[in-house]
Amino acid sequence: MQTHEMTSTDALEILQTIYGFDGFRGQQQEIVDTIIRGEDALVLMPTGGGKSLCYQIPSLARPGTGIIVSPLIALMQDQVDALRALNLNAAFINSSMNAQDVARTEQALLDGQIDMLYVAPERLLMSGMLSLLDRCEIALFAIDEAHCVSQWGHDFRKEYMGLSLLSERYPTVPRIALTATADERTRKEIASNLQLTTAASFVSSFDRPNIRYAIGEPVNPRDAMLHFLDTHHEGEAGIVYCLSRKKVEQTAEWLNKQGRTALPYHAGLPAEERQHNQTRFLREDGLIVVATIAFGMGIDKPDVRFVVHLNLPKSVEAYYQETGRAGRDGQPSNAWMAYGLQDVINLRSMMAQSDADEQHKRLENHKLETMLGLAELTTCRRQSLLSYFGDTLVEPCGNCDNCLYPPHTWDATEAARKALSCVYRTGQRFGVTYVVDVLMGKVSERVTRFGHDRQSTFGIGKEYSANEWRNLFRQLIARGLLAVDVEGHGSVLLTESARPVLKGEQTLHLRELVVGEGKKSRSVTR
Ligand code: ADP
Ligand code: ZN
Repeated sequence: MQTHEMTSTDALEILQTIYGFDGFRGQQQEIVDTIIRGEDALVLMPTGGGKSLCYQIPSLARPGTGIIVSPLIALMQDQVDALRALNLNAAFINSSMNAQDVARTEQALLDGQIDMLYVAPERLLMSGMLSLLDRCEIALFAIDEAHCVSQWGHDFRKEYMGLSLLSERYPTVPRIALTATADERTRKEIASNLQLTTAASFVSSFDRPNIRYAIGEPVNPRDAMLHFLDTHHEGEAGIVYCLSRKKVEQTAEWLNKQGRTALPYHAGLPAEERQHNQTRFLREDGLIVVATIAFGMGIDKPDVRFVVHLNLPKSVEAYYQETGRAGRDGQPSNAWMAYGLQDVINLRSMMAQSDADEQHKRLENHKLETMLGLAELTTCRRQSLLSYFGDTLVEPCGNCDNCLYPPHTWDATEAARKALSCVYRTGQRFGVTYVVDVLMGKVSERVTRFGHDRQSTFGIGKEYSANEWRNLFRQLIARGLLAVDVEGHGSVLLTESARPVLKGEQTLHLRELVVGEGKKSRSVTR
């Protein structure tokens, strides 16, 4: 494949003869041409957009080996297998290999027999590897999952920082950085940390029109999920994300009892079991993987029909990336999420307890707020999601829960005032459950001990159920009228924004509350 003067006709020929595709998609052609000319590129393309060809074709079209930096060893094997199936000389070097295999691959590299070499960043940056590369002809460096170089992004990996060395050490080798998620700020950080500020930048639309977004707060998320799966995804493949390993295992077990084939996946399982479950999911039809976020990066399964979240993701980027694993084949797919008050409390306390520095914690908190904002939204979800990535959608999409079934809002001012004053009267020292007990006039040992049964707000909220109150509190927290003091065991506090509502200076319209137990929440069941 090694000719020196390459044109885009050659690129098209490679696409057609080797890959068997008719033509390029979206911006692929321009990107490929840029790299073939020896220039750098920064590529932002949603999952499924076709990023791999953007570096694979130039690797073949240019003389020498394409070096692909990828963060996940588990995925290298899949990529390399896929390339070998096309009769290409692809290889990887990583820590799972024995010395003999490494030596053999290195020799093949020196002999110029490898079209594409996958390598993890920490491995690439080892002095032995670099001095080996000094003696090879290199077609390009591709830096996959480039958002890992950004501290603002959601998946920072410090090894990625070292990759800036490539531009100094190999100034004539073109570099291409690729990612599926990057807001404006992450984009800037990628460009500056990888010395790509002068690179051509290719930003594809982030819209995934075939994915229908729905987010709700059902009383019983598991049952609501099953109802959703039965209605829309009988026998189809999908991913169910949970926050904890324990919940992953429980949910998988439960789904199996309901007659679904569900496989667990999380970092605590033995490596063989994880690999086995992943392989089954890829090869067999209609399986469900129940997983923590450890599952998914780089999974290339085109017919994932649904992605369910049983917990709130910790950022909009994470939500977008995880839901983006649905419908890579362009067919209608669902992104369905159920969340609750406990998610907000759990995520906040995880953040408070992490040993990250203050600045980092503030940042994480800000991201969680933004995610909550998306969850509580009453207008088009897609418009909001895309605007987060600097993309605009002029009209509401017509393919999200809020567009299809506009949420009913109600004047919650009076109820909110009751809730807020009860928080105030009980001293801002208690969690939601306790405050709801007081509102509903429930006598308990604790309530009597603190004398709250003799308090003016005791029993003023009997018109709503405990679930309705919890829903209201969640919305008040999401809107920032109440703050959760995670160091104080989840006690809720009034914020400045609560004042105008308490004083009757501001009205508050909220999403309809869940009406009683059993009746499933509106937006997630359809
Ligand atoms: P990404 O890495 O951006 O998530 P991939 O590179 O894995 O996406 O491509 C997604 C799918 O689209 C793959 O199955 C790939 O073979 C296919 N694909 C990519 N480009 C084209 C094209 N020009 N024509 C047809 N199929 C394509
Ligand atoms: Zn919409």
